[in-house]
Amino acid sequence: MARTRHAPAALLLALLLVPLLAVAGCGKEGSPPVKGPQPEALPQYRVNTSFRLDSSPTWRRAEKRGHFTVGVKEDQPYLGEKDPATGLYSGFDIEIARMVSASLGLDPARIRFVTIASANRETALQNGQIDYYVGTYTINDNRKKLVGFAGPYYMAGQDLLVRADETDIHGPQDLAGKRVCSATGSTPYQRIKEDYPKADLVAYDTYSICVDNLLTYQVDAVTTDNAILTGYAAKAPDELRVVGAPFSQEPYGIGVPRSDNALRFAIDDALAENEANGNWEKAYDATLGLSGVPAPKPPPIDRYPAG
Ligand code: GLU
Repeated sequence: MARTRHAPAALLLALLLVPLLAVAGCGKEGSPPVKGPQPEALPQYRVNTSFRLDSSPTWRRAEKRGHFTVGVKEDQPYLGEKDPATGLYSGFDIEIARMVSASLGLDPARIRFVTIASANRETALQNGQIDYYVGTYTINDNRKKLVGFAGPYYMAGQDLLVRADETDIHGPQDLAGKRVCSATGSTPYQRIKEDYPKADLVAYDTYSICVDNLLTYQVDAVTTDNAILTGYAAKAPDELRVVGAPFSQEPYGIGVPRSDNALRFAIDDALAENEANGNWEKAYDATLGLSGVPAPKPPPIDRYPAG
């Protein structure tokens, strides 16, 4: 059957914009099971009320105001998603932010989440707009010159998202002359630019804009981490698919102000504690695990020396 190009895409865009949480709890008899995060499946994080970290200026400020301010993403399914109706955030990165807050003595229910795009993360940490950042943030040496990283808490890899009817693109080697979309300031954007210069690369602030452009045939592929792309594909399985095998390693870290080593080490400890007590895996199963990949073993935490 011949399809018009625009009507189904427009419909899909509307569907993609409906957060899964909005339909949670509205299950009528006979309606399909809801695939969004189920609040009752999420871990309950015990707040460590005796915790203090007076050597950390970031922690002292947060403790005084009574909550952490955390930078996140709001358009990455199962990772960091904001429900436009309620303003509530959900996903694996959000859970990581919450477990860290509880271990550091501040009520996770009081966290103020702020959406920060990939290109603005370093500035937000440098100017004190946020205390820490949890949003598919790859640890690398260039970024370590600007910010500190606790973790990693998850290992992703760069991949490609195409329309289900795509036949030409099987991996990054097929991108010559193809329009490829990624986010400004991201490692996947940089890798395509350097390693696949024949691709016709375009950049936007967010991956969800890239996905809109893919659905409306403005671009041929979206590239970023498999964890992110799998979420978009899971929301529109008839229209989108992830191709090939991951072609990079993207260890996700928690960004902190560069000079606040006390905060960085305390977050490393918090991650280790939550991996050991089962919270990490429970949080994964209730969020990112919903896109179909069983919980991996978390990568070893890299407690690199201060300097
Ligand atoms: N993990 C990659 C990065 O930090 C891509 C995802 C993102 O832009 O957040 O650049």
